[in-house]
Amino acid sequence: MEALIAGLVAAGLLAAWLWPKLRLRRALARPLAPPLRAILARNVAQYAGMDLAHQKRLQRLVQQFLHEKAFVGCAGLDVTDEMRVTIAGQACMLVLGRACDASPATLYPSLHAVLVYPGAFLVPRREVDAAGVVTEQRQDLLGESWGDGRVILSWDHVRRAGMDESAHHNVVLHEFAHQLDSESGSTNGAPYLGSTERYRSWSDVLSRNYAALRRDAMWGQQGVLDHYGASNPAEFFAVATESFFEQPWELAARHPDLYEEFLKYFRVDPRHWVAQPRPVFDEAFGTELVYGQWR
Ligand SMILES: [Zn+2]
Repeated sequence: MEALIAGLVAAGLLAAWLWPKLRLRRALARPLAPPLRAILARNVAQYAGMDLAHQKRLQRLVQQFLHEKAFVGCAGLDVTDEMRVTIAGQACMLVLGRACDASPATLYPSLHAVLVYPGAFLVPRREVDAAGVVTEQRQDLLGESWGDGRVILSWDHVRRAGMDESAHHNVVLHEFAHQLDSESGSTNGAPYLGSTERYRSWSDVLSRNYAALRRDAMWGQQGVLDHYGASNPAEFFAVATESFFEQPWELAARHPDLYEEFLKYFRVDPRHWVAQPRPVFDEAFGTELVYGQWR
């Protein structure tokens, strides 16, 4: 009798382990439908510049994301395929180089749901200062990443960032960079890297660039990286990730050591997908500006 119960428990555990894998395999059996591929082409600015192998890998990751993660419309929003595919496409670009073709990759393992608001959303904020004074305020947000498996996004800002190549902010890349960051156990600007050697190099390079951004922010000097990244190391990683994918040429020119470190982590080079900016001739000074710098 005991042997029978043990056998049934073992069979139950095996089924619980196998069942999601079989369902995922079925979901990936057919290619992403052409209308959904068209959404990727329309709303993920880097997609058109990718070679076929990367495009196909991104399509598979999008299918997996749509299969595994729930989308929840907030404030009366009906979530459409356009919203799902756009958000999944941009989020999966961050793991494109780390995903293996042969077996389905683990995709944002702690993420369960993406909550989508029609526009910027208001959240209550409670801060306590040193004197114990509690300030309650309501803040307008474009996105948030929670450690409990939720990402919250404003669709209006997601849509605009995906379609406008000149907009260098991307709220999906930003919030999903926080998700990658949290995979290491704490959201502190260092995602899971593996070896101690990698953490040492990451810490050297990111600390140096973070300190430089804090100085720039203090003196009001605007470079490639948004000053919001000077808030703390976690925001620095999220802001630098946006720049890595949205302004790769500028980031590589202005922060070569940071770019190198990100190449090793993301295992893709977005310079292959984004056109190199042309130098701008500055009439007043009679010289060329490249990536916002004097040549
Ligand atoms: Zn952030």
